[in-house]
Amino acid sequence: MSVNLFDLNLSQLEKFFTKIGEKPFRARQLMKWVYHAGILDFDLMTDFGRALREKLRAKAHFVLPEIISDKTSLDGTRKWLFRYGCGNSIETVFIPEDGRGTLCISSQAGCALDCPFCSTGKQGFNRNLSAGEIAVQVWYAKKLLGEFDTKVQDSRRRSVSNVVLMGMGEPLLNFAAVVTAVDIFLCDYGFGLSKRRVTISTSGIVPAIEKLRECSEVSLAISLHAPNDELRNQLVPINARYGLRELLAACQKYIDNNRQHGGIVWEYVLLAGVNDRPEQAEELARLLKNIGGKINLIPFNPYPESPYQKPSKNSVLRFQRILAENGWTTTIRKTRGDEIDAACGQLVGNVKNKMRKREENLNSNKVAVSG
Ligand code: SAH
Ligand code: SF4
Repeated sequence: MSVNLFDLNLSQLEKFFTKIGEKPFRARQLMKWVYHAGILDFDLMTDFGRALREKLRAKAHFVLPEIISDKTSLDGTRKWLFRYGCGNSIETVFIPEDGRGTLCISSQAGCALDCPFCSTGKQGFNRNLSAGEIAVQVWYAKKLLGEFDTKVQDSRRRSVSNVVLMGMGEPLLNFAAVVTAVDIFLCDYGFGLSKRRVTISTSGIVPAIEKLRECSEVSLAISLHAPNDELRNQLVPINARYGLRELLAACQKYIDNNRQHGGIVWEYVLLAGVNDRPEQAEELARLLKNIGGKINLIPFNPYPESPYQKPSKNSVLRFQRILAENGWTTTIRKTRGDEIDAACGQLVGNVKNKMRKREENLNSNKVAVSG
């Protein structure tokens, strides 16, 4: 059976080459072609002899997703909708900033966790992405941004400096594939990113955080969104299974193992009138007092039929001020790429809404015709 080589990290590729009767060092050569030079055509891999190239053609290939849409907003945010066969569409978003660029990638098609403010959650779960389907998002973004093109000598050469798993899906519920993809991001023969620049965002799957501590040093962002279990049970339903005490204990252990990371990033989506009150900011500061880290405030990004409202600018600033008075460093996430629906899960959501509307129109036409 032919293998999708994007699915394999360095050690798996070494095993692959051994299995086909080749020396393991071929794995490093191959990775350099793919991840440093952006080359997928075995015939262009000039340090591979003809026999090896033929063997590779017979036993391996690279799978690229289909590009369903590719939009760039006025602020430079670029969003792709990729399809991996059988109607599984996912989003990848590139956010350029001064001197760097963050790529927000997806780990699952849909999500099973059903957080009520999240457009991906509303769509339900379709399937896990494979390691290669996760890794190729970075490869393809770099390709489409011209980063592999040696003739391009401007700042685009290092366009993707940070990767965050904050697109669609819960990364820690697709553990093995995510860890393999992260290996490819961090590996010197892969994308060679520093572990500070690769972040997994999770809603708090405690056993998986424990497991991650054993096998990876990637940075962690926790989607907290509430300062107590009662509210968090509503906003992040998985909290009913893994409550705040357990979650914070697992995070503390993660920090103790990875001191160099400067702690965890706590994400807090601000929903008007639900979790943006001054006393909730105080409570949040108290909750996290002993564990530290940074807080990233994310003003809610509304989508069609979303049951929550955006917080006012004043309430966002008030929330931030209270945290600052309690000694917290906070950032407020800027809304980027508004006009291209760059918030989590929105583009797929909109495509689905449009499809549903079209179906509804067709059905109502049918009714009209038969009536
Ligand atoms: N499942 C993971 C990663 C994907 S969600 C997680 O929950 O962390 C990435 C981030 O986007 C999370 O912090 C999530 O809470 C936030 N998010 C989801 N929908 C949002 C919306 N409509 N507005 C603002 N942030 C949202
Ligand atoms: Fe899933 Fe994260 Fe959305 Fe919750 S916020 S439904 S965990 S993608």
